[in-house]
Amino acid sequence: MTPKTVARTVIVGGGAGGIGAAGAAKAADPQGEVIVYTEYEDAAYSPCGIPYVHGREIPDFDRLFLAGKEAYVEAGIDIHYNSRVTSVDLARRQVAVEGEGDVAWDRLVIASGFDYADPGVPGSDLEGLYYVKNIRRAMEWDKVIDHVKVAVVIEASPLGLEMVTALAHRGIETHLVDPHPWALSEAADPDIAEPVQESWAEMGVKMHFNTRLEEFLGDSNGKVRGVRTSEGELPADLVVICTKKTPRNDLAAAAGIQIGSTGGIIVDERMATSAAGVWAAGDCIEVPHGVSNVPLQGLSGSHAYSQGKVAGTNAAGGNRKYQPVYVPWGMVAGKWMIGGVSFGETLATALGIPFVLGKAQGISRARYYPDMKKILVKLLAEPGTGRLIGAQLVGGEGIKERADFLAMCVKVGITLEDLAFMENVYSPPIGALNEPIALAAQNGLANLKG
Ligand SMILES: Cc1cc2nc3c(=O)[nH]c(=O)nc-3n(C[C@H](O)[C@H](O)[C@H](O)COP(=O)(O)OP(=O)(O)OC[C@H]3O[C@@H](n4cnc5c(N)ncnc54)[C@H](O)[C@@H]3O)c2cc1C
Repeated sequence: MTPKTVARTVIVGGGAGGIGAAGAAKAADPQGEVIVYTEYEDAAYSPCGIPYVHGREIPDFDRLFLAGKEAYVEAGIDIHYNSRVTSVDLARRQVAVEGEGDVAWDRLVIASGFDYADPGVPGSDLEGLYYVKNIRRAMEWDKVIDHVKVAVVIEASPLGLEMVTALAHRGIETHLVDPHPWALSEAADPDIAEPVQESWAEMGVKMHFNTRLEEFLGDSNGKVRGVRTSEGELPADLVVICTKKTPRNDLAAAAGIQIGSTGGIIVDERMATSAAGVWAAGDCIEVPHGVSNVPLQGLSGSHAYSQGKVAGTNAAGGNRKYQPVYVPWGMVAGKWMIGGVSFGETLATALGIPFVLGKAQGISRARYYPDMKKILVKLLAEPGTGRLIGAQLVGGEGIKERADFLAMCVKVGITLEDLAFMENVYSPPIGALNEPIALAAQNGLANLKG
């Protein structure tokens, strides 16, 4: 057992959630001891950049490291690499660590992250199946990709969209297999995904929607040679698995900590779990959606980091609250940027949430300014009040800023009327006379009144 003299915060996980918690715990209690355990060789790198190194938009993996190992030593954060926590003992307040034995804690933060959902088909033990996650493995896979001629990406999740785009950029014949009718169908409306799919077609991507994966096919050496789908076989040198993120809740569940309907650990607004002295953050937890109150799990790295900060602060004696989420999202896919807030038409309809729609095609710069790009904005508002409840966007630029702004609008209760008559920047290289959000709101207002 590792002896301790001051209050010790143990953190399981060196991802965005765990590192956010470590820094915050140290800030809240500078005298306290902070120990982080991670299974990986590194902490504090950005996995988010990996698809862009594969696609060669980012020249090398070194840029993805956010801080050197010595920076944590200097900050008084003791990170144990290649160290797997195998169990949590709530009664004794200790964790079991492979190679170290039992380690006592006064406060525990679980930030164990996510796993990709098991595709659940035969052949999942074959060589050549790539789960994009750990940076060291990504560096090895990048060399493999140099020799790949045909690749299959399984599922048009956010990562799937990035990997399809990256592999196509790399000049590889890329197939996308997805059981749904269009790309990112759980988040994006079909008219938002359509330009992305058109641009993939221009890039040579072969899309197989409404197509189920049935088996990974191997050769006599145990290496993947293709996939069998509901629409037939596809050859492949590489298969990238981009299935849904599922919470890594095994440690928490085995310890008896309460797990929610999504499989995420249940936390309160202070990120406290059902067990005294235990906090949790990141992709292993679930949090309520601000509009529908439905629990959500597996959000983004920025959510994980913010949750980690709240968990770490509170674990170390501070007092911070995490608020319900409105989930602004955005990404580059094919030759377009897409994004949104809360939900679009498809998801709202599926959830039975009534809405009035405002939709308009605007432009990102003055119409005469070179490289002006189109922006399609869709706003969803509550019937009667006109309060904004969701949005979707696709365009050539300016999507992230609008998604962030619209998320705040949803949060504070801005209406279509407010947006229809909003002030906006007009400057030829960065903004048009008519803001696309205002145009969509004006149309929505007409629908609301009509
Ligand atoms: C390829 C890729 C692209 C991404 N792109 C984006 C993006 O564009 N934007 C964005 O916001 N987010 C992005 N993300 C972030 C991502 O989707 C998650 O939201 C984020 O990684 C969650 O952080 P986390 O700390 O909760 O979990 P993780 O990042 O999964 O970290 C979990 C940590 O827990 C450790 N761990 C788990 N179990 C144990 C155990 N038993 N013992 C010891 N250590 C353990 C792991 O070693 C790891 O350090 C991307 C992630 C990947 C992999």
